[in-house]
Amino acid sequence: MLGRMMQMPLLISSLLRHAVRWHGDSEIVSRLVEGGIARTTWTQLGERACQLAHVLNDWGVQRGDRVGTLAWNNQRHVETYFAVSASGAVCHTINPRLFPDQIVWIINDAEDTHVFFDLSFVKLVEQIAPRCPSVKSWIAYTDSEHMPVMTPQALCYETLIAGRQTEFDWPQLDENEASSLCYTSGTTGNPKGVLYSHRSTVLHAYCVCLPDTMSVSAADCVLPVVPMFHVNAWGTPYAIALTGAKLVLPGPALDGPSLASLMADEGVTLTAGVPTVWLGLLKHLKEAGQKLPALQRVVIGGAAAPPAMIRQFAEMGITVRHAWGMTEMSPLGTVCTLKTKHTDMSSEAREAVLLKQGRPIFGVDLKIVDAEGRELPRDGKAFGDLMVRGPWILESYFKGAGGDVLQDGWFATGDVSTIDPDGYMGITDRSKDVIKSGGEWISSIDLENHAMAHPAVAEAAAIGVRHPKWDERPILVVVKKPGADLTRDMLLEFMRDKIAKWWMPDDVVFVEDLPHTATGKLSKKDLRERLRDYALPGV
Ligand code: ADP
Repeated sequence: MLGRMMQMPLLISSLLRHAVRWHGDSEIVSRLVEGGIARTTWTQLGERACQLAHVLNDWGVQRGDRVGTLAWNNQRHVETYFAVSASGAVCHTINPRLFPDQIVWIINDAEDTHVFFDLSFVKLVEQIAPRCPSVKSWIAYTDSEHMPVMTPQALCYETLIAGRQTEFDWPQLDENEASSLCYTSGTTGNPKGVLYSHRSTVLHAYCVCLPDTMSVSAADCVLPVVPMFHVNAWGTPYAIALTGAKLVLPGPALDGPSLASLMADEGVTLTAGVPTVWLGLLKHLKEAGQKLPALQRVVIGGAAAPPAMIRQFAEMGITVRHAWGMTEMSPLGTVCTLKTKHTDMSSEAREAVLLKQGRPIFGVDLKIVDAEGRELPRDGKAFGDLMVRGPWILESYFKGAGGDVLQDGWFATGDVSTIDPDGYMGITDRSKDVIKSGGEWISSIDLENHAMAHPAVAEAAAIGVRHPKWDERPILVVVKKPGADLTRDMLLEFMRDKIAKWWMPDDVVFVEDLPHTATGKLSKKDLRERLRDYALPGV
């Protein structure tokens, strides 16, 4: 016997045990749906997770059974994450912003046995419950004082766990067993479930904490704006358990003023979310003349971070970490941080690097390929279909939906990108949003970034529209800032010297608002639908 290392599976229960044992006094602060702020610690949260595990046990919830949640970011939701997964069941976070029909479809596909929900979703639960036969009980995240009268009558979370034992003997699971489930948004066809394992979740939690990723340490105070129903809030609850950082959970209040006041009051140093929420926060900070002196880093992902947004944060001394990933990737794939070689560069050159989606994290391998699957050079110019592989990347969807999705062991992301010689990956488009003009690709993200740099533009989307000669030509659909003076020609003039002539949009359409998906991203599918009857000028 040559000797060997201990065989200890990577389990979510070990994250919880570590948090309770080594930073039991670290704080978890939540804004509640019922109003007010709740404060707790990992010691208390650990005890309450054990109490909940006893409830699940009494209900007969088995290993692998799915338990759903329809909830914002709050303490009770975190308790459920840990209690459900650590006891061997699967925590299925459901996006409450989806249409009721989609939610019903997802709950039935997952065969959820019980569903926990915040009081914001009482009406939704009443509406969908009769169509969800697998759900044995609906549990309202509240105390007896705030319990709603509803049909079907829900159970009260606080009453259920009260008086239960505060210790639980977490089972020794296989690290490859399923721990949680998240559905893709289903922009094409029905949503598909992505089943994470204990192992993939713990490895991903380590990766979230790395200095070149989100860099989470015990000295941080972290506010995930990204919802816990959007790819497990990008793994932040697990990363917090791992490090002992203070956790601040914004509940349902994701508007600029509410986020700013919570960040200021709690001394938030690190936050994460999609670009749309930062538009709201930055607008508020500017209008109110408010500063967030404690805030050091903002992780922006889920959609491209426009340069104007990165610059606005930089002016306040806040570093933007542009990140890319997807539900199928737990979600982190790349994060953009600078290398020593960038130190001496001009600020413009550095800004151009920070605009990219970043370098792969150890654990995620990337390549770009052409239509025949041949790998393309990493020269920063060639762009092709982005492929990924790694231990926290999906091998097959829940219940085998979509069949065998790997190509020679690689997962096709559906994104189109470049990779430069330093390994920085830059997304140019989603393959279904690519604008193809005269056989050549035009990057809609590039066009949007240039348009968003105009001070009068609040939001912009570039889409391709039919053209008899060029197949497709790009147009910009723009929301102006309130009271701003901007015309089509003014915007095109502003962009003229910044992009190739043949990339120039053929038109600018001004609209009151742009459609967004349930995860707060621009929905180009809905936008194209809205502009179905649009015709290019002169065509
Ligand atoms: P969906 O948007 O379908 O709900 P995901 O949240 O999994 O599902 O989205 C993943 C997709 O979001 C990626 O494939 C990519 O197209 C897009 N995306 C994520 N991060 C970025 C980013 N930083 N820049 C550009 N696109 C991004």
